[in-house]
Amino acid sequence: MHHNYKMRIRNLDLHFGSKHVLKNVSLDIPPNKIVALIGPSGCGKSTLLRCLNRMHDLNPDARIKGEILLDGHNILHGNTNPVGVRRKVGMVFQKPNPFPKSVFDNVAYGLEINGLNDRHKMAARVEESLRGSYLWDEVSDDLHRSALDLSGGQQQRLCIARAIAVAPEVVLMDEPCSALDPISTARIEALMLELKKDFTIVIVTHNMQQAQRVADYTAFMYLGELIEFGETRQVFESPREDLTREYVKGHFG
Ligand code: ADP
Ligand code: MG
Repeated sequence: MHHNYKMRIRNLDLHFGSKHVLKNVSLDIPPNKIVALIGPSGCGKSTLLRCLNRMHDLNPDARIKGEILLDGHNILHGNTNPVGVRRKVGMVFQKPNPFPKSVFDNVAYGLEINGLNDRHKMAARVEESLRGSYLWDEVSDDLHRSALDLSGGQQQRLCIARAIAVAPEVVLMDEPCSALDPISTARIEALMLELKKDFTIVIVTHNMQQAQRVADYTAFMYLGELIEFGETRQVFESPREDLTREYVKGHFG
């Protein structure tokens, strides 16, 4: 296992109102790896993922305890700026959600917010991001068409381009392929393997084949607890916990 970590989750507890949703979760995420979160629906995968870029900040019902270290710095600390966290920790959602703008503007948006206003640098960065998400060849003839006219798989790759354009360090993906056909899914999986050279990736997936194809490490969650975490092959082929074995065999969930 690694001894340097991009993110460390330490004794994380989360309540939504009176409901205890994450229970003393500790998990270390190594740099330039893909970590998959698996487990039955409702076990807390998305909730955990969303802690990693402070997405629960706007939910007055959410109470979080514990630590999440990003490069050793606790992002849950009261005086950490959540906007800065989200710049370092980007997110791609289950359903592709491009803005109702042009392909170009979708990628340029975050760069503009970050203060890039040189048109040539902007164009270069947009191209680089679209190449980086394997979309460039399909859109370069007309960057000003509406993003909403792209296919679902293209829209998801556009969302990935949008996420990576601002040069995050970590990219969170919550079931990014669940709305996509198998060919688009294969493209995104290939893309993830490429992206981990530059980024650290945490992916939620209900697809156990997908976890085995892409993830270096897998975390199995059940009822808000982290049951087992290890190298993906170990978790699937020789799980330490009976519960993990039952789940990866497809006996429940
Ligand atoms: P998963 O992604 O593993 O399917 P979630 O993290 O979405 O599970 O949900 C974990 C639990 O937290 C579920 O019981 C869910 O109903 C509950 N939950 C999720 N979001 C909220 C919320 N905003 N308010 C209250 N309960 C929530
Ligand atoms: Mg979920």
